[in-house]
Amino acid sequence: MTRREQLYPELKRLREVEGLQWREIGERLGISRQTACDYYSDPDGSKHRERNLPWRAKDFSQCPECGGRMSAARFGGERCRECHVRREARAFEARLEDVAEMYREGKTLREIADALGYGPNSFAPEVTQARQRGLIGYRNRGYGRPS
Ligand SMILES: [Zn+2]
Repeated sequence: MTRREQLYPELKRLREVEGLQWREIGERLGISRQTACDYYSDPDGSKHRERNLPWRAKDFSQCPECGGRMSAARFGGERCRECHVRREARAFEARLEDVAEMYREGKTLREIADALGYGPNSFAPEVTQARQRGLIGYRNRGYGRPS
């Protein structure tokens, strides 16, 4: 029997027979006002379990790419952190190749940054990296100097 189930009969009596407030009930039972209210409205914990189900299911689900354990939802909930980081790194490498390709086509660095989705006043890290790796040169027309 859970603590929630143990406390429920007394909690119910204090609320319905004695008509106490949640704060007073909490003090009598040694729990918070919020917990008293929660136990009363969800005596067997089923609502609580229901609310938590998506999270718990996610905790124990497997990464579709490596079979590892899934972590937080901030990685899209689609793959584990390691796979997320690997995927981001691959995407960055692919963009570096795009940068080199566009440079060969004669685009200015400004045009390349635009094509990568960077705003007029922001610097594209892909361009810096491509330069450092010698993938592109220093043809700088139209970059870093808003017209
Ligand atoms: Zn993975």
